[in-house]
Amino acid sequence: MKIKDILQNNKVTVSFEVFPPKEWAKLADTKKVIEQMVRFNPAFMSVTYGASGTTSGYTTEIANAIMKGGVTPLSHLTCLTSSREKIDSVLDELEDNGVENILALRGDIPKDFVESKGQDFHHAYELIDIIRARGGFCIGGACYPETHPESKNRVEDIAMLKHKVDCGLDFLTTQMFFDNEKLYEFREMCAIKEINVPIIAGIMPITNAAQIKRSIELSNCSLPKKFEKIMERFGDNPDAMKQAGIIYATEQIIDLMANGINNIHIYTMNKPDIAEKIMKGLSSIIDE
Ligand code: FAD
Repeated sequence: MKIKDILQNNKVTVSFEVFPPKEWAKLADTKKVIEQMVRFNPAFMSVTYGASGTTSGYTTEIANAIMKGGVTPLSHLTCLTSSREKIDSVLDELEDNGVENILALRGDIPKDFVESKGQDFHHAYELIDIIRARGGFCIGGACYPETHPESKNRVEDIAMLKHKVDCGLDFLTTQMFFDNEKLYEFREMCAIKEINVPIIAGIMPITNAAQIKRSIELSNCSLPKKFEKIMERFGDNPDAMKQAGIIYATEQIIDLMANGINNIHIYTMNKPDIAEKIMKGLSSIIDE
C-alpha cells in the first residue's frame, strides 16, 4: 500500500523505524525484532539505509520481512555517495520486490568525503526527480523542525524544503525533536510557504544517557529544561531513565495529537519493548 493513501483522511497513525544489521550474520536477529514489532500494528515500518550504501542489500531483505508480517514497508534511500547506475539498480530491486514507498534522502556527508566533478548527486531533490520521473513509487523526504545543521538559517532551509517538496514529495518525516513548540512553529512556517504535504512527526524515545548525547550531536536539536531535569535526576539509573524516557515520548505524542498532529513516526531503534510500552500508553488514543 502507498503511504500517501495510509495518511489520507487525517486518521491517527503510528509507525516505527528499524535499521538493518551491519553484517549478514545478524540478519536473523533483525528479522526477529520485526516479527515482534509488527504485532503492535504500526501503520507502516521504515527501514534505514547506510549513507555509504553498504547495507543496501539488507534494506530490501528487511522490507520483505516487514511485508511478510503484513505491514507496509518504507525503504530509505540515500544518494550522495551513489552513482546513477547504483540508484537505478536499487530502484529496480525495490520495484521487483513490491516495495512501493521510498524515503528519498541525500545522506549525511561522510567524514572523508571529497566532492568530485563527476558526482551524480548533491542533494535529495535530484534523487526525488529521478524516482518521480520513473513513476510507481510514493516518495517521502526528510525535514528539520529546528533547521538542518548545514543551513545558514531557517528561511533558506524552508525555501530549499519547498523546492524539494515541489519536485514530487508525497509526505515529509521530521528529524527528532524534544520540544513540541518547535514543531508547531515549523508547521506554521510550512503553511506560510504552502508546503502542503502531510508532515509525520519523528519521535525518539531517549532511554539512556549516552543516547541523548549522540542524538543531539547528530541532529542539532535542542533539549527543553524539563528533559534536562529528567536527565539530571535519572541519568545514572538505567531502569529509571528508560521508564522516564518512554513516558516522556508518550506524553510528547499525546500533546502532538491534541494539537492536531495525527501522524507519528517512532524511532524505535530495533527495541520491541519500547514500541510495545508506547503503544500500550496510547491504546485508547489510537483507537479513538
Ligand atoms: P537535502 O534535502 O539535500 O538537504 C541537505 C542540506 O542541503 C540542507 O541544509 C538543505 O537546506 C540544503 N539543500 C537542499 N537542497 C538544496 C539546493 N538545491 N541547493 C542548496 N542547498 C540545498 N541518513 C542516512 O544515511 N540513512 C537514513 O536512512 C536516514 N534516514 C533519515 C530519516 C529522517 C526522517 C531524517 C530526518 C533523516 C535521515 N537521515 C538518514 C539523515 C539525512 O541523510 C541527513 O540529515 C542529511 O544530512 C540530509 O539529508 P536530506 O535528504 O534532508 O538532504
